Amino acid sequence: MPSKTADSAEETSAGPLTLAELQAKNFDSFRGIGEKRAADLHALDVDNVLDLLMYYPRRWVDRTAECRVRDLAPNVSALVVVDVLSVDKRTTRNRKSMVTVRVGDATGKFTLTFFNQPWRSRQLYAGLTISVWGKPDTFRGVLQMTNPIVDLIGDRTGRIVPIYPQSGDNGVKTWEMAKWVESALSKCSPRGVVDPVPEDVRHKYGLAPRFEAMKSIHLPSSMDEMEGARRRLAFDECLRVQTYLVREKKRIELSARGIAHSTRGVFVDQFIENLAFPLTSAQHRVIAEVAADMSRTVPMNRLLQGDVGSGKTVVAVATLLTAVEGGYQGALMAPTEVLAEQHFAGVTRLLDGLVVSDPENLFGDRPVRVELLTNRVTGEQRRRVVAGLADGSIDIAIGTHALIQKGIEFKSLGAVVVDEQHRFGVEQRARLREMSEIRPDTLVMTATPIPRTAALTIFGDLDVSVLDEMPPGRTPIVTHSVAGRAETGAMWAAVRAAVGRGDQVYVVCPLIEESEKLEAASAEATFAELRDGELSGLRIGLMHGRMKSVEKDAVMESFRHADLDVLVATTVIEVGVDVPNATQMVILDADLFGIAQLHQLRGRVGRGEKASECWLVTRLSDDELIAEMKPRIEALVASTDGFELAEVDLQLRGEGTIMDKRQSGGSDDLKLASLRTDRDLIEAARDVAIDLVGDDVTLSAHPEIRDEVRLFIEDRGREDFVVRN
Ligand code: ADP
Ligand code: MG
Repeated sequence: MPSKTADSAEETSAGPLTLAELQAKNFDSFRGIGEKRAADLHALDVDNVLDLLMYYPRRWVDRTAECRVRDLAPNVSALVVVDVLSVDKRTTRNRKSMVTVRVGDATGKFTLTFFNQPWRSRQLYAGLTISVWGKPDTFRGVLQMTNPIVDLIGDRTGRIVPIYPQSGDNGVKTWEMAKWVESALSKCSPRGVVDPVPEDVRHKYGLAPRFEAMKSIHLPSSMDEMEGARRRLAFDECLRVQTYLVREKKRIELSARGIAHSTRGVFVDQFIENLAFPLTSAQHRVIAEVAADMSRTVPMNRLLQGDVGSGKTVVAVATLLTAVEGGYQGALMAPTEVLAEQHFAGVTRLLDGLVVSDPENLFGDRPVRVELLTNRVTGEQRRRVVAGLADGSIDIAIGTHALIQKGIEFKSLGAVVVDEQHRFGVEQRARLREMSEIRPDTLVMTATPIPRTAALTIFGDLDVSVLDEMPPGRTPIVTHSVAGRAETGAMWAAVRAAVGRGDQVYVVCPLIEESEKLEAASAEATFAELRDGELSGLRIGLMHGRMKSVEKDAVMESFRHADLDVLVATTVIEVGVDVPNATQMVILDADLFGIAQLHQLRGRVGRGEKASECWLVTRLSDDELIAEMKPRIEALVASTDGFELAEVDLQLRGEGTIMDKRQSGGSDDLKLASLRTDRDLIEAARDVAIDLVGDDVTLSAHPEIRDEVRLFIEDRGREDFVVRN
């Protein structure tokens, strides 16, 4: 019988433990955790029983698949659990470190050899029990394993042994951790742990009860049981994040005051009829989604995802015009001055000939007034624009964040479209919200495709529309992988031929992380090399991040006007630059770039009617690089669909590629759940959260979930990490 301390007697009288109660429990009652051990645990961010129970194993050693040393065979991978007999460290003739470890069980002995892992001689010592996973070979007739996977399992005996993340030399040993976790679980047993997920939901999604799962993730009796436990606990993580997001979304819907725009006018229809092309059905669908949002009093909060060239601008303009039709103003914000100017030119063209009714005008209508406002608009023109925004005579303003600077007032801002949200800071978005008491409808556009599950997690408080169809009549970009001298030579010949036909060329220089200076130097070197070599005789320009912006603009202008055949540039050309006559994109050292970036760069060509080509030049000489890069280059050669590529990227490299650390919510919100492999859980959690929240943002019917969202997200100040906008 377990010894009954005063506090466990009191505990059994209460209901199941809440996570908050577990968090409030320190290690005072734990045997073996004194001041020193508590400090070691603190270094691992484990400060209470909840942290301990959520300190999940990094791996599990499945001893049901274990074999004995006697049964090891050359070239057959195997797991053995053995004792360390002796450890020897040497340096080989070619100056590699080599640690040889003699190990054995009751049936036999063999040798482990570690190259370039000198720390093994400190980690392993005689008397230690370890599990070893590897493929044996024979060296001079003796069985050995080279660089196997080793886990220190101490005296753990279960069928499945959890291996906890280790840190540092004097850190906590995995079997110590296992022992404490086990004792924490047994201390919790009398009361059990609250399960916030209703029984019917658990049943529907096949989720284990929570306390079972908490036990099984640490002490599973089979790998299946472990996976079931992981899924259940991962679901809880997703449910907390989704409940938070869904509730925030609801809160805004219930409280913020927006404008119920009339969407029955003819203005937008007229604009669409005036276009030189019919809309794609994706554009029709998204424009309708936006219109439905705008007609409600709840402010629109929508994200529009559409690959480069999918025709987002038309959607943006339809959004702005919906506001203008009802006498409100619209604003389109771009992340850079160049892009704002480009949008200004494009939108002015699209609106050519469109008139807006004006009761104050004798003839009843006037042209739609569109103006540009960036920091480059100065003097008298600036004064006119600022005045026009304030008196309402400007219908549509296009600009950078200059549009929302202090001192700029709109008479009646009704809709805001933000292009390329990731360059727009939190501050700017906040300022946008503060600008008027009534919130304008907001459409955020991004050309970076994000897989749906990731979007649900990162942008879960926004509604999402997707332009998943390219306008017809584009000649798809043909992408080549180029390696070696011969292929490179052929590429430059093809590029020269394209220039001969009157086309233009981008050459993107190698990426140098962390140093704009080195990158500029390398761009200059590439420029000189090409000018004197492969591309001699052509008109070549250079653009890099160390140039002044007037210089960059001048180069860009001459390229735009076809006064240059070739633009050698660093990634400064990545976003939004639009020169339809450019048909050739050469990316040097393409292996240094990620899929998303290569896709964005490639999107600079293929913007006109002419057939375009993209050349991904790799220096793959090194085997490791080949293994890592080949699938990326192959994916780009095979597909021009940004969403498909985003999925591939997610599969190949994990969440880090889509989200920076902040966006991924650090490691805390999603410890077990993976955007990559747990899509079904994320979708399920979304549905469950919508159900649980309903119209009650206080979550009064689900206090357990409410408390856990508070504990994990609100109290930890993590709102910013999961919420955009
Ligand atoms: P995005 O901003 O999504 O990259 P744009 O809005 O700049 O794309 O559109 C890219 C090009 O496609 C523009 O030249 C635009 O005029 C043209 N375009 C947009 N919609 C259509 C359509 N439905 N049919 C044909 N061309 C279109
Ligand atoms: Mg665009």
